[in-house]
Amino acid sequence: MLCELCGAEVPRTKDVAVEGTVLAACTNCARFGNEVAAPLVRRTSMPPIIAQRLEARKRRLTPRDVYTQTGEEELAEDFPARIRRAREARGWKQADLGAKINEKVSVIGKLESGTMTPGDALVRKLERELGVKLKEKLQPVAVKRQSGPATFTLGDLVKFDEDAH
Ligand SMILES: [Zn+2]
Repeated sequence: MLCELCGAEVPRTKDVAVEGTVLAACTNCARFGNEVAAPLVRRTSMPPIIAQRLEARKRRLTPRDVYTQTGEEELAEDFPARIRRAREARGWKQADLGAKINEKVSVIGKLESGTMTPGDALVRKLERELGVKLKEKLQPVAVKRQSGPATFTLGDLVKFDEDAH
């Protein structure tokens, strides 16, 4: 059974009254409420705060696998900086790098300013020539704890991911 107060799985629960609401509580939590002797009419729906708590707990226990399922590699968000740093570390001008990978200097400029996204072939050339990785495995994203109502969108996740960088 699930304790409606702390969310723990327990062999059995006790009905207790907490703030006027009858809840199934584990023995630990039961002492926070007044035990209900006679079976009362139980609320059919959980009070919002409890529902939220259980929902939050479920979120904590469920691996957020939006990003973790695939194991695929994606172009790193900061690929422009990676290219520029690696190039500068070698003391190359954009034109030098362009010559090495057989691309116009304007292409290098666009890549480093992030206005152009390299295709797979170009990524491979850049990685080989610069000795850096421009792709990375998609990482699991930390779950943002929320104290307010639990509405969670993919947009929040993506935003949080960006904040973390
Ligand atoms: Zn409990």
